[in-house]
Amino acid sequence: MMTEERDKIFRRCICTYGTNPQIDVAIEEMSELIKALLKWRRAGGAGLTEARVCIVDELADVRIMVRQMEILFQCEDEVEKRIDYKVRRQEERMGKSKVIRNVLQEAEHGEKE
Ligand SMILES: [Mg+2]
Repeated sequence: MMTEERDKIFRRCICTYGTNPQIDVAIEEMSELIKALLKWRRAGGAGLTEARVCIVDELADVRIMVRQMEILFQCEDEVEKRIDYKVRRQEERMGKSKVIRNVLQEAEHGEKE
């Protein structure tokens, strides 16, 4: 299904059920994902496969509701910008920590020699 088609249905959901009920559903779905992730961590053996199925299902629910929240708060572009900013910042942090690791490693090797 195309994004446009999905968004049209999501807008209908918001109009049909209302803002606060859809915010409540978003909160509920996020808590269900949290529970599914915790269940996967506790699971073992065959339970892992079943727990993974639940995670996939809950990720779908959360993505549906996150998209509805973007539509509801009219903030898709702002969210995209924040994602870019946060991902770049994280990349920078990892780059810095790699540099620090290398410096520390060099210092350690230097001491031994
Ligand atoms: Mg769910």
